[in-house]
Amino acid sequence: MNPITPLSRHQTLESTPLWQQALAHAIRTPEALLAVLALKPEQLPRFFKGGDKFPLRVPLSFVARMKKGDPDDPLLRQVLPLSEENDFTQGYLSDPVGDLNASETPGLLHKYHGRALLITTAACAIHCRYCFRRNFPYHQQNAAANEWDEAIRHLEQDTSINEVILSGGDPLALSDQRLATLITRLEQIPHLTRLRIHTRLPIVIPQRICDSLLTWLGNCRLMPVIVIHTNHPNEIDIEVRGALRQLQTIPGITLLNQSVLLQGVNDNSDTLVALSEALFACGVHPYYLHLLDKAQGTAHFDVPPQRATKLFDEIHSQLPGYLVPRLAREQAGARGKTLLPLTSIAGGHGERSEGPSALS
Ligand SMILES: *Cc1c(COP(=O)(O)O)cnc(C)c1O
Ligand code: SF4
Repeated sequence: MNPITPLSRHQTLESTPLWQQALAHAIRTPEALLAVLALKPEQLPRFFKGGDKFPLRVPLSFVARMKKGDPDDPLLRQVLPLSEENDFTQGYLSDPVGDLNASETPGLLHKYHGRALLITTAACAIHCRYCFRRNFPYHQQNAAANEWDEAIRHLEQDTSINEVILSGGDPLALSDQRLATLITRLEQIPHLTRLRIHTRLPIVIPQRICDSLLTWLGNCRLMPVIVIHTNHPNEIDIEVRGALRQLQTIPGITLLNQSVLLQGVNDNSDTLVALSEALFACGVHPYYLHLLDKAQGTAHFDVPPQRATKLFDEIHSQLPGYLVPRLAREQAGARGKTLLPLTSIAGGHGERSEGPSALS
């Protein structure tokens, strides 16, 4: 449960928003997860209990979209700790994207022109095993300290910033009350024009898109952009579709998705094509397909760049251009995400194509 807004003694369970109840009831042990999925530990010889630092966590609504009895389910693979996490891999780091060098005040990362990213909370509704922030020092890097004062002061002073990105953790793990307070302060900074929210909550607990969220977001002066995080079409069920439709009722909103290319989850073109189609059917445009950020403990998810580029060629040949995400990689010190070029358009004559990098 969100530590910033503990339930007071006088609050009954009924007055707790449904999404917070779902968060509180998330599965937190591999044993419980395997029991719900009717899997025996022998079917998952490589599973381990997960460290104390980054324990298993997965809401029941997400588990409900996994296939029972399937040890290779692509949603299960995203959340189940495997023994490979303990293998040390050369070239994998604790801060692979150079975030700590980009921190200007605690929890404010200013890497790219015009955009500043706020680490609003360490909390997430789900613990994705491939997460690049799994080793992140949230205790030192949280913009919520002192009621956001330092971060707000920095944003006020730097007039080159016109977009604030709320990130985390998952910013929508914060209560609506707390978010509304932050948004009110951001709205008062005249040079800000856009508010972007990077969140996986509409996918993992779709009830998070509740009336109070729709109210503060709908009343915000800043143009809203929501970037959800979905990796596989099975993550999108009828409740998720409903939540995304609700978000679309907000005037001027832009809904985008980012995915991570993950071995054993979505590293085939049929899955990626189906994901783009499923997203578009609920009003979401594919934005980025990220190569894995090389955080220690995630090497078993890696898809090498050459295979990634080949997959990307395949989806590019099957989808309209607006449903092809940008294949990107984060490089420490770069001034934007690095876009990977296509090797060739599948079926073409092997000529090098400019790829999407020419357009961005
Ligand atoms: C990814 C990222 C952004 C946003 O980059 P876009 O290309 O605009 O999506 C901004 N700040 C930081 C620190 C980032 O990692
Ligand atoms: S929701 Fe995002 S920040 Fe949270 S664990 Fe998953 S990938 Fe990491």
